[in-house]
Order: sequence, then C-alpha cells, then structure tokens
Amino acid sequence: MHAFIFGINTQGILSGGMRMGGRYRYIIVGGGLAGASAIKGIRGRDREGSILLLCAEPHIPYDRPPLTKKLWFGKKKLEDIYLNPSEFYEKDGVSSRLGVRAVKCDATEKTLHDETGASFQYEKLLMATGGSPRILDIPGGSLEDIFYYRSIDDYTRLREKAKEGASAIVVGGGFIGSEIAAALNINKVEVTMIFPSAYLCSRVFPEALGLHIQEDFEKRGVHIFGHTTPAAIQRKGRKFVVTTTKKQSFEADILIVGAGIAPNIELARSAGIKADDGVHVNEFLQTSDPDVFAAGDCANFPYKALSKRTRVEHWDNALMQGALAGENMAGAMRPYDHMPYFFSDLFDFGYEAVGDVNSGLQTYADWQEENAKGVIYYFNENKVRGVMLCNVWDKVEDARKLIRKGEEHTPASLKGAIR
Ligand code: FAD
Repeated sequence: MHAFIFGINTQGILSGGMRMGGRYRYIIVGGGLAGASAIKGIRGRDREGSILLLCAEPHIPYDRPPLTKKLWFGKKKLEDIYLNPSEFYEKDGVSSRLGVRAVKCDATEKTLHDETGASFQYEKLLMATGGSPRILDIPGGSLEDIFYYRSIDDYTRLREKAKEGASAIVVGGGFIGSEIAAALNINKVEVTMIFPSAYLCSRVFPEALGLHIQEDFEKRGVHIFGHTTPAAIQRKGRKFVVTTTKKQSFEADILIVGAGIAPNIELARSAGIKADDGVHVNEFLQTSDPDVFAAGDCANFPYKALSKRTRVEHWDNALMQGALAGENMAGAMRPYDHMPYFFSDLFDFGYEAVGDVNSGLQTYADWQEENAKGVIYYFNENKVRGVMLCNVWDKVEDARKLIRKGEEHTPASLKGAIR
C-alpha cells in the first residue's frame, strides 16, 4: 500500500500536504473525464492497487459540457458538475495531486516527474491529458482576459463578467463558439460572432441546415459575421477591439475565442512515445510503450468501424476510452471497439451524432420537420459513414448498427429507416 492518501475538496490542491515522490501501481496524468473513468475501470478489476491521479487543474474531475449549456440555463449548479463526490477518491484509495503539471516521463525507468521536482514510479501509466485551446496567432492574440474557453475557472470568470447588457465578441463558429454564443444570448448579453467559414458549425452541418440555424441565431439577436477572420486585437480602456482581415472593427466588453484545441502530447514526446495529432495508441489503448496508455481527447486511435486512425474530442469517447484504458491497465486487454457519439444543443436544436459526420461527404436529410426534427445520413461510396439525429432521441444504437453493417444505400432506401 502507498503511504499517504490525501483528502481533497472540490477546489483543493492536496489538503493532505505535498508528497515528494512514491511508487504506485497506476498513475493517471490528467483529471478530466478520461482520467476519472480510468479510476473506475481500474477499480472494476483491481480493488487494491495503488493509484495516483495527477492533474494540472486544481479541481477534482468535472464535466465540461455544462460549461456552455446547463450552467447557463439554470439546469445545473456548479456543485452538480463534479463527476464524483470529493469523498469518492479517498474512499477508493486514490491519491490525488491537483494543481500540479507532469513535465517529463522516463519510460525506461518508469518514472514520472512533475513541475515541483517530485518524481513517482509506476507500473502502468495513463496519459489522459486532453487538449489545450489554440491561441490566435495575431497581434493581441495573447492579451490577458481573452477567454480561450475550456475550464470551470473560465466559466466562473465569464459568469462574473456576463451581466445583462454586457457585450461579447465570440470568435469561432464551431461547437464551443456557437454554444457559448447561445448561452450568452439567453443571458441577455449582446453577442457578435466572427468566424472564417460560410455558416455556423460548417464542419458538421450540411449547408441548408447550417444556414437555417444561423438565421435562428440572428432572429434571436446574435450578430453574425461569417467569411471573416480576426487580424488584430487591441484594448481600448476596458473594451476589446477586434479588427478583421476585411478591415471591419468590433468592440465589446468580453472576448471569447473558440478556435479548437491541440492535443497535449508533450509528456508523451518526453518519453519518446509516438505522438503527432495525438498520442498514438493501438486497439488496446497502449502507446508505443506497452506500459503507457492514452485515452480521451489526446489519444489518436484506430477507429475500427470507420477503418481509419483518428482522434475524437467528445464526451462519450473520453468516458468509454478512459474506462477501458483503466481496465486494460489492470490486465483486461480488451480492444476498443466503441463507436462514440456526441451531442450538442443550440437553442431549441438538440442533436446526437455518431460516426463520420463530415459535411464534406454526400448527405441525405430525412426530415419529419424541415431543419428541426429528422435524421441526416452522411455517405461515402454509397455506404453510411455517419448519422446525425436532430431532435430525435434514443436512436444512437440504431445509427451505430447501420454504420457497422456497411451495406450500400441510397436516399430512397434510408427514408424512414430511423425515426
Ligand atoms: P480533458 O477534459 O481536457 O482533461 C485533461 C486534463 O488533463 C485537464 O484537466 C488538463 O489540465 C490535464 N493535463 C494536461 N496536461 C497535463 C500534464 N502534463 N500534467 C497534469 N495534468 C495535465 N463533448 C460532447 O460530446 N458534447 C458536448 O456538448 C461537449 N461540450 C463541451 C463543452 C466545453 C466547454 C468543452 C471544453 C468540451 C465539451 N465537450 C463536449 C468535449 C468533452 O468535454 C471532452 O471531449 C472531454 O472533456 C475530454 O476529456 P479528457 O479527459 O480527454 O480531457
């Protein structure tokens, strides 16, 4: 058994004090959803093995989706978003080291070093390091107080500023940008969106749907400027001024950027583990070092059902991959064959999607109510690669089956297939 188990509170860094090293059967780097799920995966097979959870954020694991949704709509309170009660970790024999970054992994010595100079030995290690927001590479892109929105601390800080009547510029028209714009609009903040693509969420929505949703945003008072990119950011007193490549100028109290994330691969690289667009893992979620695993947003894995290697930045993937990585670290060694789904809500338009929902593919929309309720199929060479269920619920399993079957289809053969 390990010598210390620290008690922690939801925001606490180690309430039991600092430990300058130690030996653990399992070390998990990253206390997001994948890291938290891995604990459950390990404990499902190994009740006793010592676990260290080490995370750069000074919080116990929490859920990120409410940061742009339910917390803003009064459907959840901050204390509801933690994935487990704080006692869970202590009860489950997990030592936590929060608010501390791992900076180096020596795979030969099986040793992890953190930024305080402490080092820890492991038998199995999980990299569940997620991703970091991409910073705009333009003058002023790193100004203090710009929200590169991702964490609970970002939410708390934004909530303080997003008072009724405040103004906000949202750069980026993808998931994060669109969701936070909707959340602020509902909270009576004057929102202007700026993004380079032709319409909102253009990577997943077919054009007609994307334009329809964009129109809905505009009707609700969100000002939208597509086809444009920020060129510089300045401060004018307390305000931000964003100048675009088209020489337009926008001014607001708050500036939020949702320009995607880059996977956190530095730790893997420090260990000589293969990593580029994510940390490469095999079907068992092992990296190029068999005692080191990776899961969640940072993992680049073989997506069997789509016959491709990819990285998925969604909740269900982090949940399922984290759990399986934990089980496999404890000896299960089952392949990852899950088809992760994802979900989003934009005002009244909610959806769940599975597979390759890439708007560059051929699509067929089987609407029950045009652009409001129905199913969109994404094809490649007449085979369904992805399905988006728009305000159609509890059908993700049907969509998975359809994609897995890999049969040839036409729009006619799909009409009414999923309702
Ligand atoms: P993360 O949650 O990013 O956790 C990684 C953790 O590792 C972080 O705490 C980080 O600080 C820590 N870390 C990184 N490097 C180190 C290091 N070297 N040492 C120590 N710690 C380190 N998905 C959906 O499907 N639907 C949604 O509606 C949805 N909404 C979202 C809303 C927001 C605002 C965000 C940010 C994401 C949303 N997602 C959504 C995506 C989903 O939340 C992520 O896919 C999921 O959180 C990924 O979990 P993870 O554990 O892999 O990574």
